Amino acid sequence: MFYAEIWLESIEEMTVKRILTGIRPTGALHVGHYVGALENWLQLQARYECYFLIADYQALGDHFHEIDLIRDSVIQVTLDWLAVGLDPERSSFVIQSYVPEHAELTMLLSFITPLGMLERNPTLKAELDELPVERRTVGFYNYPMSQVADILLPQARLVPVGDDQAPHVEMTREVARKFNRMFGEVFPVPDTLIGRIPRLRGTDGAAKMSKSKGNVISLSDDRETVRRKVMSMYTDPTRLRATDPGHVEGNPVFEYHDAFNPDKGQVEDFKHRYREGKVGDVEVKQALAEALNRFLDPIRERRSRFEANPRQIEDALMHGTGRARKLAAETMRQVRAAMRIDSYTSRWE
Ligand code: ATP
Ligand code: MG
Repeated sequence: MFYAEIWLESIEEMTVKRILTGIRPTGALHVGHYVGALENWLQLQARYECYFLIADYQALGDHFHEIDLIRDSVIQVTLDWLAVGLDPERSSFVIQSYVPEHAELTMLLSFITPLGMLERNPTLKAELDELPVERRTVGFYNYPMSQVADILLPQARLVPVGDDQAPHVEMTREVARKFNRMFGEVFPVPDTLIGRIPRLRGTDGAAKMSKSKGNVISLSDDRETVRRKVMSMYTDPTRLRATDPGHVEGNPVFEYHDAFNPDKGQVEDFKHRYREGKVGDVEVKQALAEALNRFLDPIRERRSRFEANPRQIEDALMHGTGRARKLAAETMRQVRAAMRIDSYTSRWE
């Protein structure tokens, strides 16, 4: 597993060719996606062959009753990608369900995957615990398996993700090795690349900012919405007055300052005064809202340009998905041949 700070050196040494990663179309993207994933994607797209997947099959797992949300989010996610600067000429934007080989490979790999791998997966366990019983579907339980197939289908070597997804990439490595051992070398064993902030907290102080939890600052929020969300953010609950000494560690307001405020001197000064009880939350939050808004301004600007041109969004999806289809057909030919589940009737031909 690689972390963002060391990625450049480490990757130079690897023979990275292809990269796959993805996002579920379950809502607009947020600043956690940026520091956990998109920032690395932006660097990688300049040098490698990248496949960015809109994982709509996986969204169905717990959002099967919200098809309108999924449909809308496919477009919103694409817009967010364009707005942060992902380039569909260089990289392929792919709609998962438009390449049905994803489903075929998920099924074939599930036959060689021990149940224990899903049972032990810490991210899956935590997500299932939070899901109401009526939304705990077989499809959701199997989504890490689907992610394994997503990564192996384009024969990717590197997977840039936030750390909640690391167990799924670990599972991919095990399944790839097992397949290769049983049937012959088909799949490279991929590495994980974790973002600068492996897991950004939610505005409510929860361990993870998450589209489905509503504790987010979206890349598409306007200035006033960002200001409002920041001013009502969770902070240090033990601090009742501005003169009480406060906690900086585990406090999302400071975590966001570290992640998004380029004025490191100001951040250090706030931290110092906060610990001493010499600055109020309002001042720290106002500065944070301003830093976030400055970070988001160019993204907003690019977004509005693409919004005015829906044809570009459609073209981006269609081109990328077309490229992924060709690759998928070739991998599946290799997989079926390796497993000897092709040409059963060849002796009669
Ligand atoms: P959902 O709640 O629908 O699962 P999500 O916010 O978790 O949405 P995903 O589509 O599951 O988003 O994740 C997309 C990518 O962004 C993954 O690589 C994931 O690890 C990363 N990511 C998501 N949330 C965060 C976060 N708060 N901090 C860092 N990375 C994140
Ligand atoms: Mg998620």
